[in-house]
Amino acid sequence: HKDISDLNYIEVVRLREKLNIQVGGGSPPKPVCSFAHFGFDKRLIEAIRKSEYEQPTPIQAQAIPAILAGRDVLGIAKTGSGKTAAYLWPAIVHIMDQPDLKPGDGPIAVIVVPTRELAIQVYQEAKRFCKMFNINVICAYGGGSKWEQQNELQKEGAEIVVCTPGRIIDLIKIKATNFTRVSFLVFDEADRMFDLGFEPQVMSISKNIRPDRQCLMFSATFQPKVERLAKESLCNPVRIVHGQVG
Ligand code: ADP
Ligand code: MG
Repeated sequence: HKDISDLNYIEVVRLREKLNIQVGGGSPPKPVCSFAHFGFDKRLIEAIRKSEYEQPTPIQAQAIPAILAGRDVLGIAKTGSGKTAAYLWPAIVHIMDQPDLKPGDGPIAVIVVPTRELAIQVYQEAKRFCKMFNINVICAYGGGSKWEQQNELQKEGAEIVVCTPGRIIDLIKIKATNFTRVSFLVFDEADRMFDLGFEPQVMSISKNIRPDRQCLMFSATFQPKVERLAKESLCNPVRIVHGQVG
């Protein structure tokens, strides 16, 4: 079939219609509908194949090329549409692209989710795709011991930290590790973040991570409050909305 780079403007518009996605923001890249065309490392392709995923979901097809291009992204798609992998796979690419990465350098990617259950879920999915790259993942949530998490961060080191909002702020405050290298920041389930009253925490995290980071925000619903959060943390984002979302 036709290579994605050959698609002209009208064909891209039709493809987005077929995928049921609406895209906004300055010069969004074309969607990519096959795992083979993301330019992923062989090991990642193999892990995806083992998961028995046939093709990227619509949010993945549009968000992944935008994230790989270095863009900030606001991605809205209902629960179950594969948003986790849409940011996890590019996080792995981003980490593997870092020059001279040494254990103990401090995390590169921080993924903020509203609840402990979600943190554990995302942590497990991250570990599944990271193990063949020797990328370490740490899960930090409220309730767990801050000092234990600090110890884990310092002793083992981790390139990816999956965390709840309050806890990451604490870890930054006590300088649990070097956070100055964090250049990939994700806020997942932004709508729930808002419902649980974490707006100030989101703002605070956003301000405490280097301003030249890449930042992504995902949500299951599209509401003015999500737009408000996005405006505070994202820079010239590509906005992707899949399907009918409330
Ligand atoms: P969301 O965050 O949008 O609610 P998840 O990331 O939790 O969705 O994914 C929902 C389910 O779909 C998970 O079980 C995940 O493993 C699976 N999944 C992710 N990507 C794909 C894909 N491309 N094809 C098939 N299943 C997928
Ligand atoms: Mg999710």
